[in-house]
Amino acid sequence: MPHAPFRETRLLRDRAARRWGSPTIRRWLCVYCGAPATEVDHFYPYTHRDSSLPHNLVPACGPCNRDKSNTDPVEWMTAVGVPPDRIAWLLAIYAEPTFRATRNLRIDPVPLTYRSTPRR
Ligand SMILES: [Zn+2]
Repeated sequence: MPHAPFRETRLLRDRAARRWGSPTIRRWLCVYCGAPATEVDHFYPYTHRDSSLPHNLVPACGPCNRDKSNTDPVEWMTAVGVPPDRIAWLLAIYAEPTFRATRNLRIDPVPLTYRSTPRR
């Protein structure tokens, strides 16, 4: 999927900030791998109903966002090796409309095996 135009990206960042805090104040880490987050990911794919509401927007790094693409999040996270407790945490957050991160994220880095790159 092509990158969203800047205006849309800024809108998504503002919406994501309602749950994760301002990225200019908070440290945003990729919720999947723990690397510094530079993008906003649609947890359920772009075409999903209500996909651009705040509860569906999570901080992500570019490599995770690109590899995940339009995949079902649980299917993708399982395939690339996101720890099961992290998957459960993300599903719980998605289901909690009033979730707001109250401090900098603490997400331990984990190596993921992307589908778009060959296993070594
Ligand atoms: Zn990542």
